[in-house]
Formats: sequence, structure tokens, C-alpha cells
Amino acid sequence: MKIICIGRNYTDHIEELANERPEDPVVFLKPDTSLVLKNQPFFIPPFSNDVHYEVEILVRINRIGKHIQQKFAHKYYDAIGLGIDFTARDLQAKLKSKGLPWEKAKAFDGAAVVGDWVNKSELPHVDELQFEMSKNGTIVQQSSSALMLWKVDELIAYVSQFFTLKIGDIIFTGTPAGVGPVAENDVLEGSLEGRQLFSIKVK
Ligand code: ZN
Repeated sequence: MKIICIGRNYTDHIEELANERPEDPVVFLKPDTSLVLKNQPFFIPPFSNDVHYEVEILVRINRIGKHIQQKFAHKYYDAIGLGIDFTARDLQAKLKSKGLPWEKAKAFDGAAVVGDWVNKSELPHVDELQFEMSKNGTIVQQSSSALMLWKVDELIAYVSQFFTLKIGDIIFTGTPAGVGPVAENDVLEGSLEGRQLFSIKVK
């Protein structure tokens, strides 16, 4: 399986990192080795002094597809979740400044947290999902999929022009404002529509 991630999909987050508003979705991949195994902590990697959390809505692909039309995109995912796109911000800033790929900062072991999945039939429409994440009990990110620049079905149409989507692939749909650093012993908890989908400790 592969993890397809979208960058810069919420205006408020683009502004907080002083990034340019993209003309097309920003896309990058994480390998399956980036997944944090269930009930395991997140270990801060030794090559970074500034690892940030980014909470994101996830969709899980359940049909193989390429060149998917936006109007049919909803048939290609059955479950929606919430996860964290961990980012070594210091390393990413260095790579970005040189125009180099971000993988070392975004695709390292443990850089992808995937919470529990919810069948999409149990949730409101995918473009109207409220979600939030707390750090040590204080809410640090809170938003709605209604604020995405590119909505889920548009993203599926877009990325499937480049990558064949396969069963089990996961799309990380981008983070809203409020990203920030993690430290040892932090606890991050994410909820989608009031359901807690992950709780992870930082080590
Ligand atoms: Zn992200």
C-alpha cells in the first residue's frame, strides 16, 4: 500500500507557514514503513530538533482506479479516519530552501499515524466533517473539511491522474492551522465528529 499526502490544502495553514498558495494540489508520498503500528508510541527521530504534528482527515481506498472522474470518486473510498502527518520541520525547511524533495522530513519511520476507521455511511458528508486534535488535553488544531481548498473527491480525481489507486491506499488530505512541535511524553488525541480515533504518546 501507499500513502498519498496533500500539502497546503487549508488557507489558514498556508498563511501560518508563509507558503505560497499553490495552483495545483501539493502531493507527496510516504512509504508503508512510515506507519506507526497500532498502540505504539511515536519516537522523535534523532535527526530533528523540531518535529511537528499535523492532524489530517484520511480516506481509505477500497477499489482500484486510475483517471477517476470527480463525480465517481466517492465510489473509491469506504472509510474515513484521522491521522497525523509528522514532519521534521527543521529538515523540511532546509530541503525546501534548496528546492529538494521532502521525503527525509516527511516519510521517515513513524511519520504516519493512522487512527481507527469509520465507515463513511456513519458520518456526515465528507465535505462537512468537524475534527480536532488535543495535545496534553488542550485543543491545538480544530477545523472542518468544508475549509479544504481541494475537497476529497477533487483530490482523488487529481492524484489518480498520476498514481493508480489500489485497495488499502490511504490519502492524507492536508492539515489546517495550529501545527506545532512535540516533546517527549506529550499525548496527542484526535477526534472526528466527536469520536476519538487515536491517542498516541510521544517518546
Ligand atoms: Zn500534512
